[in-house]
Amino acid sequence: MTAQYVLAIDQGTTSSRAIVFTHAGTIHSSGQLEHDQIFPRAGWVEHNPEQIWNNVREVVGIALTRGNLTKDDIAAVGITNQRETAVVWDRNTGKPVYNAIVWQDTRTQAIVDELGGSEGPEKYKARVGLPLATYFSGPKVKWILDNVDGARAAAERGDLMFGNTDSWVLWNMTGGTDGGVHVTDVTNASRTMLMNIDTLTWNEDIAAEMTIPLSMLPEIRSSSEVYGHGRERGMVPGVPIAGILGDQQAATFGQACFEKGTAKNTYGTGNFMLLNTGTEPVASKNGLLTTVCYKIGDAPQVYALEGSIAVTGSLIQWLRDNLGMFEDARDVEYYAAKVETNGGAYFVPAFSGLFAPYWRPDARGALVGLTRFVNKNHIARAALEATAFQTREVLDAMNADSGVDLTELKVDGGMVANELLMQFQADILDVDVVRPQVAETTALGAAYAAGIAVGFWNGEQDVIDNWAEDKRWSPDMEGSERDRQYRLWKKAVSKTLDWVD
Ligand code: ADP
Repeated sequence: MTAQYVLAIDQGTTSSRAIVFTHAGTIHSSGQLEHDQIFPRAGWVEHNPEQIWNNVREVVGIALTRGNLTKDDIAAVGITNQRETAVVWDRNTGKPVYNAIVWQDTRTQAIVDELGGSEGPEKYKARVGLPLATYFSGPKVKWILDNVDGARAAAERGDLMFGNTDSWVLWNMTGGTDGGVHVTDVTNASRTMLMNIDTLTWNEDIAAEMTIPLSMLPEIRSSSEVYGHGRERGMVPGVPIAGILGDQQAATFGQACFEKGTAKNTYGTGNFMLLNTGTEPVASKNGLLTTVCYKIGDAPQVYALEGSIAVTGSLIQWLRDNLGMFEDARDVEYYAAKVETNGGAYFVPAFSGLFAPYWRPDARGALVGLTRFVNKNHIARAALEATAFQTREVLDAMNADSGVDLTELKVDGGMVANELLMQFQADILDVDVVRPQVAETTALGAAYAAGIAVGFWNGEQDVIDNWAEDKRWSPDMEGSERDRQYRLWKKAVSKTLDWVD
């Protein structure tokens, strides 16, 4: 009997998921578990890598059990993951030397400032495509080596390994201390600040400046090839693990954005818009990142411009958890829909500074335009609108960098269930917003990468054929009103800059 399914592991920021996909690209079964968000100090965000690995094993078991499947039903496994989040572990014991430092963590600001020196944030951009920022993995690894007792000596002895969570999961799945493979893919490597964006090899000079021994770094491979097989005593023994894509690149793949000029926007904890720019890297003049979009086996790599927004869905979580405004993130729509407008309130959630297109670590959040008139409902609405306004800023930057105006935007992620937000998004962008039938595009993209590597799918055309539209929102706002609101948003942003002393 030939295997009828592909398993995707989505190791995300808030949870780990395992999803089993059919050949038609539909979901057969799934499992999901959240992990702890650890906030030891203001600006610090950590995860426990061992909890993550345990959850991954458990969700794979749940997905297989619910689907009434065994390993023999699985043709291949694909991995997708929260990018930039840095794990450093000991290759002899398999133990992490410190918690994972999460992409949102800003503790490395001093390291970043020192590395930039007189050249500032643009220092490595021509080589790695990224501005120097706390967001990326390299400075996080340096922090661990500088601050964890014994870590630097162990790293210099060759005892430590670094990886984003893709490498951590893959190493454990393929045997850990018993022969695990230490590999990452080009998309994850492109988020470390350590990879040459044109040759897809580690940049030894930058690694040396960050005092990171090359022996710690995983081998860089394509996004779609067999890296190894499930370990003997694991959940999927002998099954090829054959796809790795960073979560945003995976969503771009799952949304079938294979043509140069096609784009998707994912609405999760943060928002991430990626525009396929073809086989040559495009340098941004407007605050976007140059990143690898995917590389299928030996085919040439494809690049993307990316607009990363740190806080969108997590603002809704903040209203829920820190202000207790509602019980469930979904309820934000109920309150926002009780009012016609934001009542003059604009909420700029610069909780981690501002990412694209500003890259301003000195910004902090602000709720402005308040009068006695403003109530809970207006604030719920302003919080949703913040996602749409930030997306407009990124889309404007994309259009300016690429010289072509996008005509529609494919969307996915947890927030796209919110119809009020989707309509407002179309209104503020003045383009159609399109949601696919399978909203789990991140996991789907990783499944496709793995399935293509083992011949389960023939290639990109299968992905295109499987993609189907669920719902479309078209702009329904006067141009003058759109301009007025966007102007006020920009004014609100200006109030958040230069806040940190
Ligand atoms: P991630 O993959 O980044 O963990 P998801 O794609 O699962 O995130 O999306 C979860 C995010 O979406 C959370 O931040 C949550 O606050 C937000 N969210 C979920 N449902 C809604 C909704 N109906 N309206 C607005 N925000 C929502």
